Amino acid sequence: MKISQILNNNTFSLSFEVFPPKTDTSFMSVKTAVEEIAKLKPSFMSVTYGAGGGTSKYTLDIAKDIKETYGVPTLAHLTCVSSSKETVKEKIREIENAGISNIMALRGDIPQSMINDDRSRWEYTHAIELICQLKEFNKDFCIGAACYPEIHPESRNQKEDIFYLKEKVDAGCEFLTTQMFFDNNLLYNFLYKIREAGITVPVIPGIMPITNANQVERALKLSGSFMPQRFKSLVDKFGSNPEAMKQAGIAYATDQIIDLYANGITNIHVYSMNKPDIAEKIQSNLSCILGTQNI
Ligand code: FAD
Repeated sequence: MKISQILNNNTFSLSFEVFPPKTDTSFMSVKTAVEEIAKLKPSFMSVTYGAGGGTSKYTLDIAKDIKETYGVPTLAHLTCVSSSKETVKEKIREIENAGISNIMALRGDIPQSMINDDRSRWEYTHAIELICQLKEFNKDFCIGAACYPEIHPESRNQKEDIFYLKEKVDAGCEFLTTQMFFDNNLLYNFLYKIREAGITVPVIPGIMPITNANQVERALKLSGSFMPQRFKSLVDKFGSNPEAMKQAGIAYATDQIIDLYANGITNIHVYSMNKPDIAEKIQSNLSCILGTQNI
């Protein structure tokens, strides 16, 4: 099933993200965790491509397993920045052969070793080139792209960021998933601005449950997200107690989701980070809400 159909059907959707293993030896443990999450029957699951510490090697195997064994619609991520057009074409062919039609088209972070390169020699500089290539390859692919309520770290300002975001949508991207954020007002503000700029596709807020104190610094560095005082207090109070921090982090993420839903947002993506217990807890915290479906 196409993700665009799930997002546009006027019911609440809750999706989870997983990442592939970093090493061959951790494949089985990741597979088990992913399967536990798939058994929760989320609206769909996304599998990252070389992000969150995972490699790109197993993205497709995992995505295929989720779809075929558990019948959960799957979104396979694909990045392009350090690749050649030929290599990416081969990857696209593999995705298509695996029967996956939902693709998250990303540029990827620029590797440190390429920062000072002459970019005119690169085969890809931005995600839009991948979106165009995907559409040319198969116009029936359902393509998603990333967006940044607090602007992408490389952008000079939000106006410029939204200008390029619109280009991605105009090139054929059917939905957007946001970078993590911890203050819903930032999302509401962003939505207002992109709608004003003429971007009308569904936007799925990406919610990251921060469940241990060590995660905080890394997550904020990666995303450049603002940390509200309410969240800081929670980390200060519970950061040294792993069980309490986990409970508080899940409660914070649940609270964000409930507020989003109450404000008319019907699709939520949770960065569940291969943690079935956290995915399960968030889903069960929302059980009555998921049950109401009176949008
Ligand atoms: P782009 O859309 O190319 O944007 C990057 C920057 O370039 C922005 O500042 C933008 O404003 C600017 N820009 C865009 N188009 C143009 C243009 N035509 N001309 C000039 N400037 C332009 N990384 C992974 O490695 N694997 C993953 O699986 C993964 N999944 C992600 C999922 C989500 C939901 C998000 C939010 C991020 C994910 N990332 C992943 C991280 C992502 O790869 C990085 O944030 C990366 O730096 C930017 O990717 P992008 O696709 O947003 O790039």
